[in-house]
Order: sequence, then C-alpha cells, then structure tokens
Amino acid sequence: MQKANQYWNPVVETLPREKLQKLQLKKFQKIFKWAYDNSRFHHSLYKNAGIEPGDIKTFDDIKKVPKVEKAMMRDIQAKDPYPYGDMLCVPLEQVTTYRQTSGTTGQPVYQADSLQDWDWWAESWAYCLYGQGYRKTDRVFLPFGYNVFVAFWAAHYAAEKLGCEVVPGGVLNTEQRILKMQELRATAFMATPTYVLGMADIARNKLGIDPRELNIKRITVAGEPGAGIPGTRKRMEDAWDAKVYDQVGATEIGAWGNECAYQSGLHVNEAFFLVEIEDIDTGITINEPGRKGKMVITALDRMAQPCIRFDAKDIIEWNSEPCECGRTFRLLKGGIQGRADDITKVKGVLLAPTAIEEVVRSIPELTYEYEVTVTKRGDIDDISLKVELKPGQEVNKESIHQKLVDQLRMKTNLGYNIEYCEAGSLPRWDVKARRFKDLRKKE
Ligand SMILES: [Zn+2]
Repeated sequence: MQKANQYWNPVVETLPREKLQKLQLKKFQKIFKWAYDNSRFHHSLYKNAGIEPGDIKTFDDIKKVPKVEKAMMRDIQAKDPYPYGDMLCVPLEQVTTYRQTSGTTGQPVYQADSLQDWDWWAESWAYCLYGQGYRKTDRVFLPFGYNVFVAFWAAHYAAEKLGCEVVPGGVLNTEQRILKMQELRATAFMATPTYVLGMADIARNKLGIDPRELNIKRITVAGEPGAGIPGTRKRMEDAWDAKVYDQVGATEIGAWGNECAYQSGLHVNEAFFLVEIEDIDTGITINEPGRKGKMVITALDRMAQPCIRFDAKDIIEWNSEPCECGRTFRLLKGGIQGRADDITKVKGVLLAPTAIEEVVRSIPELTYEYEVTVTKRGDIDDISLKVELKPGQEVNKESIHQKLVDQLRMKTNLGYNIEYCEAGSLPRWDVKARRFKDLRKKE
C-alpha cells in the first residue's frame, strides 16, 4: 500500500474503463487474499464455499466470492478480539479508531480502522469534495457532533487534505453554529439534508438571518436520501442559495460515491470501490442501465476490517449516459433509490418511502417535515400521512390537499389519510430521521 498523502490521484477518475477494471481486479485479488490469510471469519467463509485466492483470475470470477451480510457481522461481534470479533485482519495494537453504525436497523456494528484505513477514508472523501469544487480557498464549517458515528469525520480530514480551512462546529448548538458560520464567512458546510433544512429554519425564524445572504457556495449532504430527491434538493438550494451535492457512504463500507459539480447522478468512486448491481429476485448481475437492483460492494483498499462483497441492500441503477465532467467513474441514476429493507408492500402495492418525501417536498406550501404511519385495520392496511401547512396557507388548504392527493396517487399508487398539523409541531431530526413508521410488524 502507498503511504499517507501520496495516493490521491485524480487522474484515475478519467482512466478508460478497461484500465479501471484491470486496476479493480488487481486490487480485488489483493484484498481477497489479505482477508483469506488474515481474518478467521473470512477464511472459514471462503473455505466453506470452496474458493481460494488463486481462483480469482478474471473479473467474472469475483461473483463466485460469497457475500457478507450485516447479520453475519453482528454474529461475530463482542467475540475475540473484543469487541470486533474475528473479522479483524490486524492485531488489536494496529487499530487506531473505533466507530459504530447508528443501529437504525438493529444492534450497532462495531468498526475498527487502522491509521492506514483512516487515511484511506480521507482519500475517498477528497475525491468527493474535489469533484464538488472544494478548493484551497474554501472555509468549510462542520456543524456536526464529533462522536462514535463516522458521519463527517473523514470529510474534515479530506477538506484539510485539499488545503481548505476547516472549522469544527462540534458541541455548539444550531444557533451558535449559524452565527459562527456568519462571523467567519464560511463558504461551505456539510450536514444531513434534514439538518440543512432545519438550520435554514432556525436562521430565519430564531435569528432573523436570511441564510441566502450568508454566501454559502456549496453544501455537501450525506447520511440520508435528500439531494437525490429533486423536491428536497430544490428546497435546500433555494433556502441557502447554494449548490447542494450528494455524498454516500456507510461506516462498514466507506465513502463510496458522490455527485460532482454537474449534479448528474452519483459517481461511484471506482478507484477505491467495486460496485456490483444484483437483480433482487434472481441474484444475476445487472450491467446495463435502466434496471434497478441491489448493491453489492467491495472496499478495495480497506484493511483492518475489510468489506468484501458486502450485501448493502441499497437499491440502485446504472445511468445510461456518462457524465459531462469527463470522469469515467460510473454514474448511478437518482442516487440511492431506496433500501431493499425499506421497500414494503402496503395494500399489495410496493412502496418506497422516499417517493412520499419527494411529493411532500415538491409542494412549496408545506414545510419539509412529514410523518407516515402504516397500521392494520383488521386485514386491511391503513396509511396515514401527517404534513405541516406553512403559516398563512390555511386559506389554500383545499387546493393544496388536492395537489397532494393527486401527486401521491401518481407517484405511489396509494390513497392516504392526510392530516394537517401546525408548522413546527412534527418532530425535527438532526440525524437519521425516522419519518416512516410501519406499525404492522410485531417487533
Ligand atoms: Zn461528473
């Protein structure tokens, strides 16, 4: 492996596909052998499947490697070496950072990184930020609680790596953060989409500051779908008069994709990650654009606790056109379109909660908050949607209602019991919003 600060190489972004694939295959062979040799978990997984390092000769051979699911990672946790279990490929002495997943979908997963891995995190974020136009002249504010969640930690180091000036906005409250951004004339910041909208609200309503006048040029959002949903992106960009770019990643994977300044979809960071799309029903690899499937992803350089053919359950689809920016890293259409876990059947219809968000946030008379609850009345599913009317919109309620009903019917094929709440009365979320509640499940 290369040393710190020596391998961020934007040239890789424009490599012809064949060269890029060759590079990915080479890296895959290397990480596969590394895990086979050094992790008891991977060794027995691969041994049981009858596959060993010498068997990966071509790109197609990669499909033979068994996938790893989150449930498997939970099973081995809290075992020796504590707390990571036997997926670890390095002695504990080489682990330099602990992080964990948020546990949105169950028991949190612990994640070990070595110093080399940490540099790799910053490297992958550097691709993202550079592509979004971050340069040495930027003063980047990070309004997030630095803690056990990886969130924007690596973004901090990546921005420094690019030569930006970074302002950590850790334990400040939202008002203090906005005032600090104003005082220091920050040019960019990063947050979850929910928080980007929440900050704009607080600036306007509590501080009397118009966020559009703060001269923020770019905002990078991560942690939730948002920039990939046109209605949500437009709200954020209008609120701040800034460009909003999507970035995607996960604790156990890494920062694997981002939008570039052209905003034409998510580029997969193919220098560091191999993304495969699998048909949800058949498991067959989808290479052509226009067909949705679930993501199987490999972090090609992550060493301490590797991520090899991880079944991420994100629903994605290849874009048919390359990006105008000239990068050859493949584009995903519409970012992450949902999670295989989240897509649920309501009244016999497949529903992705992000579709509801898209409708609510495309109606300017409503605030950005909403809440969806699915219950069962006898054998029949019942779906309720709470939204907030903006102050002064009571008089237009009927036409807003009609718009909402029509749009929801068109985008989701479902009818909803709609309830209008007072602006500001629904819960606000800083991280990992939980706006979709399925109360039909027992657990
Ligand atoms: Zn691009």
